[in-house]
Amino acid sequence: MLMLGLPGAGKGTQARAVSEEFDIPEISTGSMLRDAVKWQTALGVAAQPIMESGRLVPDSLVCGLVEERIGRTDCDRGFILDGFPRNLEQAAFLRRLLRAKGCGMALALLIRVDPGLLLKRLAGRQVCPLCGSIYNVYLNPPLRAGFCDRDGSALTQRPDDSEEAVCKRLKEFEAQTQPLIDYYRGVGVLREVDGSAEAAEVTREIFRILRQS
Ligand code: AMP
Repeated sequence: MLMLGLPGAGKGTQARAVSEEFDIPEISTGSMLRDAVKWQTALGVAAQPIMESGRLVPDSLVCGLVEERIGRTDCDRGFILDGFPRNLEQAAFLRRLLRAKGCGMALALLIRVDPGLLLKRLAGRQVCPLCGSIYNVYLNPPLRAGFCDRDGSALTQRPDDSEEAVCKRLKEFEAQTQPLIDYYRGVGVLREVDGSAEAAEVTREIFRILRQS
């Protein structure tokens, strides 16, 4: 399945919940690219300035990354894509990949959220650099401000969560992802949830949808 929604809609949090419940890997192109930047691989060096400015990394770089990841055996029983595809070209690439693997069409889950709430979520978002846990200073604060509940690491804010970069990302989303929503709706695999509810309630709704599919 794949997750669609504005930045901050909760795709990462919900993808993690689905991954744990159904025991299938969660594949986040954003996290993979951030790792590549962290390790300064050739891909990371190329992607870094593009990511920091809030633009999309070229399809040629991202598609190769996804193909390699989906090709691993832990994806044989299924997987969750978070952050991919971002445009129709990537969707067509995914369709070809899934066909080659003998899989059907992916289920596309759209998490809808009110843009006002979204800004609060994004402005307050903090991430644990060690285990990837996601917090929010307003909506889901850690027990000790600034530190991860799981492992005590100092929490960080992603450079692309700055207000300027967020605005750019929202604009890019509208221009590139709306056709994607229309496409998946057109082929009948789009499912929608209200992402402004409590995270646990959104999770329950997603599980219900997945068990019906
Ligand atoms: P995310 O964590 O999904 O918000 O991704 C963070 C950044 O990584 C984005 O702003 C893009 O620069 C890049 N990125 C992640 N996924 C993709 C993708 N599928 N296509 C192009 N760029 C991507």
